[in-house]
Amino acid sequence: MASKETAIYLGQELADYGFKDGHPFGPQRHDSFKDELLRQQLDRQLLLRKPVLASPDRIALFHTDDYIEKVSDYSKTGHGYLDCGDTPSFTGMFEATCHVAGSVTDAIDGIMAGEFRRAFSPIAGLHHARRDIAAGFCVFNDCGIAIEYLRAQYGIKRVAYIDIDAHHGDGVFYSFEDDPDLLFADIHQDGRTLYPGTGFEQETGKGNAEGTKLNIPLPPFSDDAVFQSVWPLIEAYLEAGKPEFILLQCGADSIEGDPITNMAFSPASHAHAAKSLREIADRHCEGRLLGMGGGGYNHDNIARGWTAVVDAMI
Ligand SMILES: [Zn+2]
Repeated sequence: MASKETAIYLGQELADYGFKDGHPFGPQRHDSFKDELLRQQLDRQLLLRKPVLASPDRIALFHTDDYIEKVSDYSKTGHGYLDCGDTPSFTGMFEATCHVAGSVTDAIDGIMAGEFRRAFSPIAGLHHARRDIAAGFCVFNDCGIAIEYLRAQYGIKRVAYIDIDAHHGDGVFYSFEDDPDLLFADIHQDGRTLYPGTGFEQETGKGNAEGTKLNIPLPPFSDDAVFQSVWPLIEAYLEAGKPEFILLQCGADSIEGDPITNMAFSPASHAHAAKSLREIADRHCEGRLLGMGGGGYNHDNIARGWTAVVDAMI
């Protein structure tokens, strides 16, 4: 067997990022994935990494100080909502979401140091949070933090962010829509039929960045054949864009049978995306590929979708 080139982040501190009382983003998602990973014995081919806590100054690479303070305050009591009703607070929320972000930046450190080429963190990809507010079950946006961290710590400007979650990655898109260096491509359920109601084809970036982003909305019930028909657009976009580091948000809520979306991919689409991005990363950026679990509220789909991604990374 080849030496282990892919790292995985697992641990209670990540599982703790989950909302209580039957919320779809509950704390069981981590174990649903982990159980299937172990059942398939994929762990034998992976470097196991423990969750890492991000310091507040690392969170502040993306988020405003006032918002970080607000999350810290709400986390102490666990009372109230951080947004208009999707994202309730819970005690320990601050530490949990700092572990989500810290694990992602630790993965970046490991990849940049050459300890491993690729990494996956299941409880990550919280793509709806904006710089100053929570949204859609997302407290701190680890995707945005990862992009800012790659730039601040490693001087990497050409980051590619690819998102196949059923929901549009609005927290990433609108935070970087005027940034010509961020490669952004997002396949999602049409915003006229699903939260957050954004990500239309004509949204290609603003100002200097106009024409540099790729939003690919798909009708509800789009299946693997539709995925296969649009994926080459992303391949061509990345081949032209020549990224230095690739981030994949591979939400499992775009797989058929999710309770809060209406997409109809199978895990084969997720595997295809991961395999294709692995090849592009090998060609353009020394293999640097970081997978972030993203959404997914059907636990069987989480288990099958994310293990398909990890298997393709191995
Ligand atoms: Zn989603």
